[in-house]
Parts: sequence; C-alpha cells; structure tokens
Amino acid sequence: MDSSTLYSLSRACAKCDIGGRCCFEAKPPLTEERIRILMDNGVRPDQIDRIRAGYKRLGTRPDGFCTLFKDGRCSIHSVKPETCIAGPFTFDVKGAVLEIYLKREKICPMVAFLKENRKVYDELFETAVENIVKLLEGIPQSELAEIIKIDEPDTDIVAEIRLKRRLL
Ligand code: SF4
Ligand code: SF4
Repeated sequence: MDSSTLYSLSRACAKCDIGGRCCFEAKPPLTEERIRILMDNGVRPDQIDRIRAGYKRLGTRPDGFCTLFKDGRCSIHSVKPETCIAGPFTFDVKGAVLEIYLKREKICPMVAFLKENRKVYDELFETAVENIVKLLEGIPQSELAEIIKIDEPDTDIVAEIRLKRRLL
C-alpha cells in the first residue's frame, strides 16, 4: 500500500465522530500467541481479561475505550490483535463457513473510501481474511462459540468462505 493510500485511510479515520470508534468497546479476542506477543511488547497482565466473557480479550478503560488506546490512537499498532487488523471487516462462523462482513459507512468513515478504491478494498479484504483465519486457528472452540454471540449491528455480509473443517 503506497503512502498516499495510507494517508487517505488515516484521513478517513480522522473523521471518526468519537475519534477511533473501532477502539471503543472493542474488546478484541486474543489467542495465547497474541497474548505472548503483546506481553513481549509491554502489555501488562491486568490489561488482559481472561475470564469475564468466556474468551480471552483486551480490557477496556473506564471511559469505554480499549485499554491500549492512547492519545487518540492504538499504542501497539504493529502487534495489534487480528480483529483490529481486519477492521472494518468483521466475521461470523456458521459450521464450516466463514462469513465476512463489512461495517457500514455510518459507523466507519473508512468504508466510503474503500468502496471508491477497489484495489485498496481488495488488499484490505485479503489481509482481513488472512488474520481472521489465523485467529480462528488459535482460538479454542468454546471461546469461538462465545465470540460469535457478539452482536455486530450496522454490518453487511460481503463474502462467504468455505473452511477446511467445521469449526462449530
Ligand atoms: S477504521 Fe473506521 S471506525 Fe476505526 S478509526 Fe478508522 S474510520 Fe473510525
Ligand atoms: S488493540 Fe489497538 S486497534 Fe485494537 S482496539 Fe485496542 S487500541 Fe484499538
């Protein structure tokens, strides 16, 4: 992705009404591998919620933003969790089918830019699927069952991908 595209994406994020909407109440799920990577990069054990939701995830600050959201941005951008990399794409799993959803423009200004720039859309879509599959490979089935219960309003399905095996 060239620097002008990255600039356009960051400008889209700057239009977010609450400044980083996708980091508000995000609670991204974590594999054990991601936890290890985060802790190697200075994330504290108390910033990881291992028990409350039935799956491992990042915690939130009292104001609702992710515990790793600092000064209006992600403080661990280069090692952020798979679902954070995948955004504004998100997912559901039905048996052996991975459904990919895209957030609507009203909750993610970046989506308008993506829809007008097919090459960038395709690049981000590919990265999103790669990271979501990686997450699915590292999450126990019981935790995945809890994750997919999370309601994701204001999203539209954009792809259905058959997985190698049934996950749920
Ligand atoms: S990805 Fe979307 S929701 Fe997240 S900060 Fe950027 S524009 Fe806002
Ligand atoms: S890890 Fe970073 S990108 Fe993900 S929700 Fe937290 S602050 Fe946002």
